[in-house]
Amino acid sequence: MAKVNENFLKLPGNYLFAEIKKRINQFSEANPKADIIKLGIGDVTRPLIDEVITQLHSGVDDMANEATFKGYGPDQGYTFLLEAIIENEYVSRGVSFDNYEIFLSDGAKCDTGNFQEIFGIDNIIAVSDPVYPVYVDTNAMAGRTGEFINGKWNKVVYMPCTEDNNFTPQPPNQKADLIYLCSPNNPTGTTMSREDLTKWVAYAKENKSIILYDAAYSDYISEDDGVKTIYEIDGAKEVAVEFRSFSKKAGFTGTRCAFTVVPKELMAYTTEGEAISLNKLWARRVATKFNGVSYIVQKGAAAVYSPDGKKQTKAVIDYYMENAKIIREGLKSIGLKVFGGVNAPYIWLQTPDNMSSWDFFDKLINEVYVVGTPGSGFGPSGEGYFRLTAFGSRENTIKAIERIKQSLKV
Ligand code: PLP
Repeated sequence: MAKVNENFLKLPGNYLFAEIKKRINQFSEANPKADIIKLGIGDVTRPLIDEVITQLHSGVDDMANEATFKGYGPDQGYTFLLEAIIENEYVSRGVSFDNYEIFLSDGAKCDTGNFQEIFGIDNIIAVSDPVYPVYVDTNAMAGRTGEFINGKWNKVVYMPCTEDNNFTPQPPNQKADLIYLCSPNNPTGTTMSREDLTKWVAYAKENKSIILYDAAYSDYISEDDGVKTIYEIDGAKEVAVEFRSFSKKAGFTGTRCAFTVVPKELMAYTTEGEAISLNKLWARRVATKFNGVSYIVQKGAAAVYSPDGKKQTKAVIDYYMENAKIIREGLKSIGLKVFGGVNAPYIWLQTPDNMSSWDFFDKLINEVYVVGTPGSGFGPSGEGYFRLTAFGSRENTIKAIERIKQSLKV
């Protein structure tokens, strides 16, 4: 008799996006002519930049020619892209890596989800609340999170992120072995400061914990003192893995390319206390389960680092961040409390009049045909908040904010 992994049965349904879809469908059926604007899902809308398109075409041409054709590539990625990543993302910020410390993947979702595989099942995980759900759900699938009771897993350490702590997870009083941090943050749109991260690196060293640092949105950091990689913090190479992605950096959500940094200094331990290199363990896992990102896509990704690629990429990010500014300032002008949107493409707003996140969702769709994401869907501390994204078109963003302003103006 084939038996299922019963951990999967403990998972709550994907309530958030299923429920959003259901409510949109109900509304559309009742109001077929309503011009709905969706600022809910975190997906990009601008096309790939010219430089990337040119290199993708060139990659296709390489595949058409016997002399340049490529079969399986190196598991961790072609040297041309690994070197471009190290040079542009790290050396430019005073950090160096060898090629073998970088692992290309088909997404930060996959790698933030898969990385837990190389850790023992009895590790305690700590996550922010609210949180990008992948970290928790993948640990739940592995059987690391205990039971789901009243909206929380009983073996997970939740770190509430509220206005009081500037939406910054604070090191817990208890020990946590694997700590998921995300900065710039999805969903709150806030970032962790150098001081915050320094505290976390110290906590991880003291407790021999590992920080799993998701910096998928680091290119959206606009403030000069913003930390773009955790390796800017002294000692971070000994305690942190970093996840990055071309998805939001360069519109690759449908093209797929990301990378994970696993420094050679990073160690975890056997039950006997023997130190084991996580770089070697992850390399083993990748070599066994992954056959590399497509050559064509890697060529496209490398184009992001050419001089024109950098300019064009920046222009797209500036476009989204102008949207973020329009949302932020528009909502502030009617007295709403708004967070994020300065170093991230997400705006996290406090619902007016203590409305619940879902009541506010219903109000916006019914009154102004605008869809966002209820904060409570990201965790209990998200209740009373609402997420809007800056990834829409300029036209829709302006229209949506004008409508919200009209509807909520006192
Ligand atoms: N990490 C965070 C925090 C995200 O918000 C997202 C996507 O929304 C991802 C990772 C997924 O990135 P990718 O498209 O590279 O899988």
